[in-house]
Amino acid sequence: MPKIRKVLVANRGEIAIRVMRTCKELGISTVAVYSEADRSALHVRTADQAYFVGPPPSRESYLVQERILEVAKKSGADAIHPGYGFLSENASFVRACEKAGITFIGPPASAMDAMGEKTRARANMIKAGVPVVPGSTEPFATEGEARDYAQKIGFPIMLKAAGGGGGKGMRRVESLQEFESAWRSAKSEALNAFGNDAVYIEKYLEKPHHVEIQVFADQYGNTIHLNERECSAQRRHQKVVEETPSPILTPELRAKMGEVAVKAAKAVNYVGAGTVEFLVDVHRNFYFLEMNTRLQVEHPVTEWVTGLDLVALQIRAAEGEKLPLLEAPTPNGHSIEVRVYAEDPSRNFMPSPGKITYLRVPGGPNVRDDSGVFPGFTVPNFYDPMISKLSVWAPTRAEAIARAQRALSEYVVKGITTNIRYLKALLAHPEFVGGDYDTSFLTRNHDALMGVEDPRLSEVALLASAVYAYNRDQKRAKTLPSAQGSGAGTGGVSPWRQALRNRR
Ligand code: ADP
Repeated sequence: MPKIRKVLVANRGEIAIRVMRTCKELGISTVAVYSEADRSALHVRTADQAYFVGPPPSRESYLVQERILEVAKKSGADAIHPGYGFLSENASFVRACEKAGITFIGPPASAMDAMGEKTRARANMIKAGVPVVPGSTEPFATEGEARDYAQKIGFPIMLKAAGGGGGKGMRRVESLQEFESAWRSAKSEALNAFGNDAVYIEKYLEKPHHVEIQVFADQYGNTIHLNERECSAQRRHQKVVEETPSPILTPELRAKMGEVAVKAAKAVNYVGAGTVEFLVDVHRNFYFLEMNTRLQVEHPVTEWVTGLDLVALQIRAAEGEKLPLLEAPTPNGHSIEVRVYAEDPSRNFMPSPGKITYLRVPGGPNVRDDSGVFPGFTVPNFYDPMISKLSVWAPTRAEAIARAQRALSEYVVKGITTNIRYLKALLAHPEFVGGDYDTSFLTRNHDALMGVEDPRLSEVALLASAVYAYNRDQKRAKTLPSAQGSGAGTGGVSPWRQALRNRR
């Protein structure tokens, strides 16, 4: 198969830039696509060429297959990298690329078909001998049938959208009384989000860990795993912080899960980078949850501890090269990634789009910031509000936490609100530091992570801040000139006004 010379990156933001960086290092030219809202975006500036593809809503731009293919042809791109999200798990797009003679950097359409719908994936995995979360392998036609099944496997259960993703279309149901309304809302949410209201049932696992295995395969059937990522720090079933190695995995469990993940990938003739997600219960039994047939948001932590460039491996696999390694490398050290969002934790994590007026990005030893923004950029409100992924490496987990904290303390974003303070609180929480946190960790500790104090402590805090304010005012009164509006030494601005400004 010929070498890839020019890659169209059918995505935006940090992941588009991430892919382009590797292309540049491999001597491959890059083509960006952008919507009206992304005219001045960083991925457009990073690419060698950029093409406009439509209005801000992704349905009218980044998701329009014909337009993306048209740009690929016009620009002379011989391959398309889809990033994650958008068209990355769309089997019909893979087929359209094939038809147009353009290499899709990702798995074959057949593997996507086999893993796309959760129910089909579960049935395929059962056939392959992979343990799945107990539950049904078919959506239910009526509420009555679903209710009977729920009673049979026992509450609590999870209603899940067969076509689900991104934590949507999922409802935990505690008892029979709640069933009917949960059924109705899960169905309507599934229809709204995925255009498909098929809903099935899984047993709800109490306090599980989300541990996923990175897999990789070439076109010749060589399939390996690249160890795990612990992704149990979740909010609304969405990952916030990821790390590797998982603090709960023994080398034996890693080897066992790795073996099963490879079996899962082989069962669908997988090629390229993929992730097999598992839930691990309190007894350390593990169950297949789903497979993501693409590069994962949290891939940098795997890159840190394996020393591999997963995007380069994806490109080489798409070119038809053999895998350069035939077994999982032993993890070297520890890596943690935190997702930095333009959102306001104090307003129920509402997205906080807008113009970034000032930006200081952390650096220093073993710190990596995969960002999609720059000072002066207006974060659009049409897309995912993640503005960067900050990841770090250190020899041990404790040092990695300290390094992540240090890096977060350097991060300054002005003009929009971010979750940086929340991330600091998360990394400092004793449960996280202790290393045995399950998927209920963030929900259970919401108040502590939001800085909501114990009422007894808030009285002490109030007194302390009163003393602090009194001392500060005393100090200011001594240093500020007594004559009002003298403006001395402040470039003509009243020192009172200056003092007020400094307080902001
Ligand atoms: P999505 O595809 O929407 O991301 P997943 O099936 O991957 O959904 O599940 C996302 C998260 O939801 C899991 O990591 C876990 O925290 C929770 N979850 C999903 N299914 C179950 C279950 N049966 N029991 C307990 N938690 C679950």
